[in-house]
Amino acid sequence: MSELDALKVALKTLQDKALDEFSNAESLQALQVLRVSYLGKKGELTSVLKGVGKLPPKERPVIGQFVNASKQTLSESLEKREACLALKEKQVRIEAERIDVTLSGRTSSKGSLHPVQQGLNEMTAIFSQLGFDIAEGPEIEDEFHNFDALNIPQEHPARAMHDTFFFHPDGDEKANLLRTHTSPVQIRTMKACVDAGGEPPLAVVATGRVYRCDYDVTHSPMFHQVEVFKVDKNISLAHLKGVLQHFLSAYFEKDVPIRLRPHYFPFTEPSAEVDIACVFCHQKGCRVCKGSGWIEVLGSGMIHPNVLKSVGIDSTVYSGFAFGLGVERLVMLKYGIPDLRLFFENDVRFLRRMGA
Ligand SMILES: [Zn+2]
Repeated sequence: MSELDALKVALKTLQDKALDEFSNAESLQALQVLRVSYLGKKGELTSVLKGVGKLPPKERPVIGQFVNASKQTLSESLEKREACLALKEKQVRIEAERIDVTLSGRTSSKGSLHPVQQGLNEMTAIFSQLGFDIAEGPEIEDEFHNFDALNIPQEHPARAMHDTFFFHPDGDEKANLLRTHTSPVQIRTMKACVDAGGEPPLAVVATGRVYRCDYDVTHSPMFHQVEVFKVDKNISLAHLKGVLQHFLSAYFEKDVPIRLRPHYFPFTEPSAEVDIACVFCHQKGCRVCKGSGWIEVLGSGMIHPNVLKSVGIDSTVYSGFAFGLGVERLVMLKYGIPDLRLFFENDVRFLRRMGA
């Protein structure tokens, strides 16, 4: 066999082998490797061409044409296979990225307001609708606003250490303390009005945290109060009772019978504790109401003339009512929550059940 024929055979064999391998390539990456190994500068086709030098000069163009034709064939084959593989890989990718819109989504758990905050919001909304303004006051108070101005004399048991958190218990005359009730907001609001040259009417609802040294199933060292008061000319117990009746029925979302029982508070005169008909037994008598059919819910009364005097309001012209209630207590009664501590333990199961 002549050198030329031998080269032709070698090229043909190489071409067949390449075509075979191209069509069997399973990925674009594998195809790229094959392209380099056959058609690259150091590829097999090039190495075969090194034999061209042994040919007589006039035969060289013949083999040149043969090689070019072979290159053309291989390139076309590569391109076809490439297009085919590219399509295939695209389909695989699309399949992998496919979104099943019928699958139910992953739900993320949503937070909700704490039951105490929900209660505060509900209660405040009821008074807002009645035209009461919302007020706030500091949690760190002084003795004047927390006690003196509220007609709580120096020797009153509420001032004793076991009830009040003092900051300077060592006889400092200007001791600060954590407010034991929201009533100081009454004093601050009335005083601010008078100091600004204003005068009643004043109708205010104030909410916030209060603190007492007390801890058991029904007492917590920190709890929340809602304080409500109204001062105007000719305010009487009838106004107090009317507002209480409206508020309690609105909050419990039903007509709840109420009763006012005479009581003593230093800052009101007369004073009354307010009971509602037991929401658990409908007055048949149960464990919660201790068989009485009534549950005490808050303290109220007509603002003591001394309190009005302490802020510079003329008690011969103006009168007012006031009441304060424990938010946790009312929420417990509305939802039948047995233990005050549930509000502060942050057990997610409880919070979820109470979520709005
Ligand atoms: Zn009962």
